[in-house]
Amino acid sequence: MPDAKLRTWVNSPLARVARAVLGGNARVAMVIGGTVHLSGASRAEFLADPEWVAHEQVHLRQYREQGLLPFLYRYLVESARVGYYNNKYEVEAREEARRVVQTLAAGQAPQA
Ligand SMILES: [Zn+2]
Repeated sequence: MPDAKLRTWVNSPLARVARAVLGGNARVAMVIGGTVHLSGASRAEFLADPEWVAHEQVHLRQYREQGLLPFLYRYLVESARVGYYNNKYEVEAREEARRVVQTLAAGQAPQA
């Protein structure tokens, strides 16, 4: 199973804060460095959603490529500038996740 190495933190205090800001009912995953912080979802629920996993895997790669603090800084500046939805790092994650789902729907294994 390719996701076995994916590091998650269930009931993460950081994700819980984000969840509270979003109204308390959302399922929240937020990547900090190499860990996916979850609130409102178990690890199994998260891993069962290929689009969600693919989305967070893009953020894991963005951290790997840019470094924890540089990426966090750029992400926050970008969010302040254009908002969450238009944040280029979110756009990239959404588009990649959509490609993965389309590939799965086509019956092919996605690229790891
Ligand atoms: Zn995202």
